Amino acid sequence: MKTVLSGIQPSGLLTIGNYIGAIKNFVELQNEYNCYFMVVDLHAITVAQDPAALREASESVAALYLAAGLDPSKANIFLQSHVPQHAELGWIMTTLASMGELERMTQFKDKSAGKENVGAGLFVYPALMAADILMYNADVVPVGDDQKQHLELTRDLAARFNHRFGEFFTLPEPYIPEVGARIMSLDDGTKKMSKSNPNTGSYIALLDPPSVIRKKISRATTDSGREVQYDPANKPEVSNLMTIYSQFSGLSLAEVADKFEGQMYGTFKKDLAEVVVAGLEPLQQRYQEIRQTGEVRDILRQGAQNAQAAAEKILTGVKDKMGFLPKG
Ligand code: ATP
Ligand code: MG
Repeated sequence: MKTVLSGIQPSGLLTIGNYIGAIKNFVELQNEYNCYFMVVDLHAITVAQDPAALREASESVAALYLAAGLDPSKANIFLQSHVPQHAELGWIMTTLASMGELERMTQFKDKSAGKENVGAGLFVYPALMAADILMYNADVVPVGDDQKQHLELTRDLAARFNHRFGEFFTLPEPYIPEVGARIMSLDDGTKKMSKSNPNTGSYIALLDPPSVIRKKISRATTDSGREVQYDPANKPEVSNLMTIYSQFSGLSLAEVADKFEGQMYGTFKKDLAEVVVAGLEPLQQRYQEIRQTGEVRDILRQGAQNAQAAAEKILTGVKDKMGFLPKG
């Protein structure tokens, strides 16, 4: 059976971008693959996190995985920091990556732009991500479009390791949705929606109450035109709202365009808000139930136990190939 791995950082409140670009696919893939879905807390600390907020977000992301439909009897759900092998293989991958490769990563450029103090962890982030994926010899990695470059680097590092030390790692394939791989910010159609954006109006969080969702959508930037038309080059904001509509309604983009032909942006936005509110309601309800049962911690413990057994095997193989002297 093929293996799938992916993760989300507990660096803020999960957004509909995370849901459409990643979690929706996790839920589909769990039925056919051997799955590892992590909450990547070691990645989250590449930018400063408040300890209490990190702890809460870690549990909240895991609960949202469950609320979205991930089933712990089908998929391993765990925290990255509960499987210390990630940090160890991460270090090894850092030694295989070159400075030039890491400098070319657009996520690093975006996240470090204009900052005076840029942590070294942010720079080596892609090496840890490569370790996460290679740790389980994942065949398929469901991610949004913004992670494509990191996936390519992972493949390069795996190939480099295999070339230097002998065939060992599987070269993973990205699994990127055709529609919704890059949901854009509500306040800027040229930037992707991100949970760590300090402007909370730029994203819709999965747990935003209906009144907040309505307000955010009504305030979302549009253009000076009037046509609800899918044209990402010339109408990025409207096209983004149409993509969200399509994802939450199940209508194709063409059907969304037909439905709102000749209508004002205001009418379209009102309808969109209701579609999103209704779409998120069952997930929000399940989330509350899951948090109340307290089951998340047990699920994470079990997930980490399974993952650690698999990870230890790969790491032992890696160290053997590289020439680390066993303890004996
Ligand atoms: P941060 O701002 O902290 O980087 P993020 O919203 O980018 O948060 P990540 O934890 O970095 O979220 O990414 C989790 C997953 O969600 C990845 O697979 C990523 O590609 C996907 N993703 C993130 N943002 C979007 C988006 N706007 N549209 C589609 N997929 C997205
Ligand atoms: Mg991100």
